[in-house]
Parts: sequence; structure tokens; C-alpha cells
Amino acid sequence: RGKEIRKNAIKWKDLAREAVDEGQGHINPMLQFAKRLVAKGVKATLVTTIFLSNSVTLSDPTSSIDLQTISDGFDQGGFAQAKSPHTYMSTFKSVGSQNLASLIKKLGETTRLKFDALVYDSFMPWALDVAKQFGLLTAVFFTQSCAVNSIYYHVSKGTLKLPVEEPNVSIPGLPLLQVSELPFLLYHYGLYPASFDMIVGQFSKHEAADWVLINSFHELEKEVIDKMPEIWKLGTIGPTIPSMFLDKRLENNKDYGMSLLEQNTSTCMNWLNSKPNGSVVYVSFGSMAELGLEQMAEIALGLKESNYYFLWVVRKSEESKLPNNFKVEIGEKGLIVAWCPQLEVLKHESLGCFLSHCGYNSVLEALCLGVPMLAMPQWADQATNAKHVEDVWKIGIRPSLDEKGIVRKEVIKQCINEMMQGEMGKEMKKNADKWKNLAREAVDDGGSSDTNIDEFVSKLVCV
Ligand code: UDP
Repeated sequence: RGKEIRKNAIKWKDLAREAVDEGQGHINPMLQFAKRLVAKGVKATLVTTIFLSNSVTLSDPTSSIDLQTISDGFDQGGFAQAKSPHTYMSTFKSVGSQNLASLIKKLGETTRLKFDALVYDSFMPWALDVAKQFGLLTAVFFTQSCAVNSIYYHVSKGTLKLPVEEPNVSIPGLPLLQVSELPFLLYHYGLYPASFDMIVGQFSKHEAADWVLINSFHELEKEVIDKMPEIWKLGTIGPTIPSMFLDKRLENNKDYGMSLLEQNTSTCMNWLNSKPNGSVVYVSFGSMAELGLEQMAEIALGLKESNYYFLWVVRKSEESKLPNNFKVEIGEKGLIVAWCPQLEVLKHESLGCFLSHCGYNSVLEALCLGVPMLAMPQWADQATNAKHVEDVWKIGIRPSLDEKGIVRKEVIKQCINEMMQGEMGKEMKKNADKWKNLAREAVDDGGSSDTNIDEFVSKLVCV
């Protein structure tokens, strides 16, 4: 019985950790945006939930970002503690909006802080009402690409009808999309009603906000951005990658502004340091994707049999899916870790390509660091991102699936070879480097994102 209880306790610990990881895809861009505001002379307060605050310890003592927390009603386990996604979202809305209002009131009374604006995550549209109670300017912050937001927007307006019955979907500013290239929730329409409500709910009030901020940059998504309705008052302010990865002058600064979860930094970096330039395949499926046993085995064999070094992030909860004895058999050829400092890994000279699930943050990071990709989307918005990686930004390829929806080891081997040594790989690398430079220009003084941030800042009374 003791063993059983310990097993359950470990399961909950892992689930809770993964819930924290999930939040990082939203917290990281918001924190980096706050840092950009601070660099413009604005005072920024970052509010997160009590549970998620474990993952956001501001590590820079001189930072003028103040970190505050509110309860979402699930302080012990966050999302994983709620009975269902629906329970989480409705509790977060009722408890969260009360607590956010109390916090703004309290900070107004106890400090000399007077807020001018509230920037809030698009998944919490109720924050707009809280801001209006206090007469604050409002900016809704979307962490996904403009392409994905545009698709969801058309669903919310009914201009893209579900379930999709045509083989292809045409949306202004986007390439023609096959149904399987739509975000997972639309492709599998009806299966996840709570998540679907959350996605569509992002557009319930956003037209009433003073700005819509998107973690993208104009040059990257020009076609779709130019087709967005004017009422959006859209401003691209990304990519929200920590400045030291975008600005050569800051590259020795190791302060991201927060500490992430345990990352096995020295193990990864020492291992990468021992490998020749351009010789390593980096593999990660992000913080949430769960692979099937068969797919995991095909990736493992594809990596083992290809003639390249590989660094593979296999989260604790996925580890049991690795083939027996795999870690021993690969020897020095591969390193498997539960989590790594991804930005530093992507920046490392030994890296050749990135086999990725195409989470939007991972795509932006690869693009900003000039790393070509092998795109193996799993769910969420990843299929749409992968389509852009291959056909729009041309920085990677999508290995083909068999009739069971599995990418086989031969295909993986062949794609890795092509990426690491073939002509196509060279072309992708050249394109990735082009985007890397454009991303830097966008956030540099006078660049498209920097100008949008300046415009936002100019409307704040405090500056
Ligand atoms: N990440 C990391 N270490 C890892 C794997 C991922 O720091 O070992 C970070 C990565 O840099 C990115 C985020 O986790 O910022 C993953 O976000 P993404 O949108 O790519 O995928 P998600 O986890 O939301 O599916």
C-alpha cells in the first residue's frame, strides 16, 4: 500500500511539474515583453498564479519588474488539480477576476504605483472587465502566431464553418490549408469542447481592447497581418526571445529575468562542447506532447541508425516509452535529458538541425537562432506552424507519415541525412539565417516590433 501511495505521489509531482512547464509558453513571452517595456523606462508588474509563481523567480535583483501573485483557486496543483479543463477555466475566471481586482486596489493603496494599462493573456478575456473597473488602458496579448489567431478568429466569427467539409481551407493572407494542417482542435472538431470554448473565447471581447499585441514580427507574417481587420488595432511586438539571444552586445548576459525548471545545463553544454560543429541533431517535443509507443520506437531507431550525434529531450513522464536498454546502446552517440536550456542548445555551434513538434515558441526560437527544422507536429497549433515552417518560411521539412499516421525510422533517417548534408539542408539553413537577421532587425532600435512597442509606450501617462 505504501508503494502504491508513493507511486501516486510521484505521479502528482510529475503532473504538477508539467503543468508548470505548460504555463511557461505563456509566461515567458509575457515576461520578455515586460522586460522590453522596462528597457523603455516603463515600470512593469508581472502577475501570475500562486501555483505557477514557483517557476518564475525573477533572478535579476536590479530588475524593475515586480512579481505579484493571485490565486486561481488551485494553489496546490494548478491546472492538474482541477477536475476538468472546464472547472479550471470557470474557477479561474470567477476567483481570478476577484483576486486581480483586489490586487490592483491593494497595490494602489499600499504603494505609490498607479497603473496605466493592463496587458493580459488572451486566454483570460475577463481581465478586460477588471481593467475597465479601474479605468485602465487594455492590451490583449496573443502568444500564438498571427496565422493561427486568424484561423481561430474566422471560426469564432463563423466565416470558417466547422466541421470543415472541403478538402482545403482558404483564409485571407494564408496559404491554402489542407484540413489536417489546421490547428488540432479544428481538425478534430467536437472532441475537446472545453479547450474549444477557451480558444474561441479569446475573441469574445478582444475588439473592445485598446490594442491586440501578437508575439510575431511584421516581416514574418506580413501577408496575414496585412489582411487582419483594422478594428484589431494589431501590434506585432515579437519575437519575445530573451534579448541576449538577439543582440550580440548582450550575449554574455546570462540573465533571462527568471529561473526555469531544472535544465541539466552543464551536462548538456559539456556534451555539446565535445562535438564538432554542425554535427548534432537536437530533438524535443516540448512540454506537453505525448508520443505513442510505436512512434517513440521509430524515432529512437531512426536516431540510433542515422550517423549523427543527437541530444533528445525525453520528459520524465515519457521515459518509460523508450525501447529497452536504449540509453546504454546509444553510448556516446546520444544524450537523453528530461529538460534542457533550449535556447542555449539551439545557439550552440555543434547543432545541425532541430527535430521538433513545432510548438510556436520552439519554431520562433529555431528561426531566431538560424536552426533548420524537421517538423513533426503532434497537436494544438503545431500542424499549422509546421506548414509555415516548410511552405512559407522554408526553414524545414515535414517527414511523411505512413497510413497509420507514424513517421517511420527510414523516413527519419533520410530526412536527417538531407538536413545535415543534402542540398535541401543547405538551402533551409540559408533561409533560417535570413529570418534570424530579420528577427534581430525587427526588435532592434527602429525595427517594426520596436516601433510598435514605442507606440504602445507613448500612450501611457507615466512615461
Ligand atoms: N524548452 C526548454 N527546454 C526543453 C524543452 C523546451 O526550455 O528541454 C522550452 C522551449 O525553449 C520553449 C518552450 O519550452 O520556449 C516550449 O514551448 P513550445 O511552444 O515550443 O511548445 P509547448 O511546450 O507549448 O508544446
